[in-house]
Amino acid sequence: TREKEEAERARPATTTDGVHIEVAANVNRPDQVPVALSEGAEGVGLMRTEFLFLETGATPSEDEQHAIYRGMIDALGDRPLIIRALDIGGDKQVAHLHLPREENPFLGVRGARLLLRRQDLLIPQLRAIYRAAAEGGNVSIMFPMVTSVGEIIRLREICEEVRAAVSGPVLPIGIMIEVPAAAIQADSLAAHCDFFSIGTNDLTQYTLAIDRQNPELAAEADSLHPAVLRLIAQTVKGAKAHGRWVGVCGGIAGDALGAALLAGLGVSELSMTPRDIPAVKAKLRGVAFSALASLAEKALDAATAAEVRALDLP
Ligand code: PEP
Ligand code: MG
Repeated sequence: TREKEEAERARPATTTDGVHIEVAANVNRPDQVPVALSEGAEGVGLMRTEFLFLETGATPSEDEQHAIYRGMIDALGDRPLIIRALDIGGDKQVAHLHLPREENPFLGVRGARLLLRRQDLLIPQLRAIYRAAAEGGNVSIMFPMVTSVGEIIRLREICEEVRAAVSGPVLPIGIMIEVPAAAIQADSLAAHCDFFSIGTNDLTQYTLAIDRQNPELAAEADSLHPAVLRLIAQTVKGAKAHGRWVGVCGGIAGDALGAALLAGLGVSELSMTPRDIPAVKAKLRGVAFSALASLAEKALDAATAAEVRALDLP
């Protein structure tokens, strides 16, 4: 029956030897939350707020944003909600912001770089988030495209100023790891972050120097390339040295082999398109963490993505 199926989906993804991997959804709007929960999501690991700007064709006001974040919190209850600050630039261009045209938008003023230059966008967003969180919920803030320690130090200072101004609660602050420099410096960044979420779509693009939208190179832009996996392993190591947790919210988190490998590398949260959740949870429930860890070891030693993909899933 449908009830039985939903109860099965709601069961946590705990490996046969007792390691729980949190499975969350990538969701942008409150009305998408019930669907994600019925697929078995334990929370929202990535809310891409740029869609608020892209879909409406206008810059949403602080109050409009507050209402949407409240809607997300109300739909989720106490379940975690990670709100990612505006990630504009690169493939996400917002016409009505009239930003300067760039020769190489993927290497330009995007993500955190834009937020630090356009505090007229950042501050109302942070005010809306802290005001919404003051009314309850389990909210974290995440910054996209962070490349350097200086950026996160400055972003944290701005968060604290806004929090104090609206008398908001202290919220966990994390960053996306989606630039090779950030993965390589994960240990230094972890000192200033409460958590990391690896954006494997961009991390793959920047590691392999392949435009994520180029159809000609789509088959080669494989997030299971050993070079990408080694950066993920380095990210986990840097985070663990500071007692921080690491998630993945790029597309590979929703792939059965990808999810298994990521868990084996020490990633403890996977956030994905809701429809991928049941299969990923079922996969993780059927295996031992120790087997995933040895699978991950083999993948790190592989020479090519094809070799990784040929590994037998336990
Ligand atoms: C990523 O880069 O993997 C990611 C999750 O962010 P986005 O796809 O929104 O760039
Ligand atoms: Mg990204």
